[in-house]
Amino acid sequence: MKLLQLSRTGNLILGFSFILIFLVLIMVCCGGRHGGVSGQTSVDQEHAVLLPGDDRHDTAQVIAYLMGKFNPATHPLFQKAGKPHTSLTDAWLRAETLQAFGKMQKAAGKDGITLSIVSATRNFDTQKGIWEAKWSGKRLVEGKDLSLVTDRVERARIILRYSSMPGTSRHHWGTDIDINSVEPSYFKTPLGKKVYNWLAAHGATYGFCQPYTPKGEKRPTGYEEEPWHWSYTPLSSVFLEKYSQLITHQMLSDFEGHETADSLQVIPNYVYGINPACR
Ligand SMILES: [Zn+2]
Repeated sequence: MKLLQLSRTGNLILGFSFILIFLVLIMVCCGGRHGGVSGQTSVDQEHAVLLPGDDRHDTAQVIAYLMGKFNPATHPLFQKAGKPHTSLTDAWLRAETLQAFGKMQKAAGKDGITLSIVSATRNFDTQKGIWEAKWSGKRLVEGKDLSLVTDRVERARIILRYSSMPGTSRHHWGTDIDINSVEPSYFKTPLGKKVYNWLAAHGATYGFCQPYTPKGEKRPTGYEEEPWHWSYTPLSSVFLEKYSQLITHQMLSDFEGHETADSLQVIPNYVYGINPACR
């Protein structure tokens, strides 16, 4: 009898132990999703932060997002773009942007206009690669080797005609795309003009706006005109507003020439130097 009782107690203890181990396993597995146990990025918070109108957020995560410090290929809100949207093999966009582009592309197709994405999301590291190649002279800028420009502010100003400093590009956000070609000459051909005119007339119907219109009274500062660059504004306008609240010139670091950001007032002059209609 005593032996029987002992073995029953043993079974009970064994049973409880299994339940306990099971509960601990659940906590370990799911804890990461809530940012607890592993300290990994919280998927739920990423969803919360970066949807318009939702203010539940972790400031550090929003800052990292706005500065492109994440991998779009593993971010839960990004989708890979492929055919028919682009012939690129490693292009990622916010799902909302890709869906809107798909609708716009179909409508354009019915009007005999072919649209294709030639550049999508570029994160901080990718932009740093572009910036530093130009900074070091490895990549010529408008035919010039910029390593010969000794004035660092001037060197940055030349790159900024067409390229963003890492951490300040709208391409970080998953909302911005370059369409068909990034060569100004393409948009001067009859075909390029036809494509541009279609986008200018119909882009807004699908949520797209051209941030880098010709410089002038409406847009006195910023990058040169880019007829190829279009933003999905239902998201990008939210990110621009958050950018103004959270990002400072001091945060722009970890790339060659970062110290010129303040004297060039890169945030007001370039991040904000956009077509007011895209705000
Ligand atoms: Zn662009």
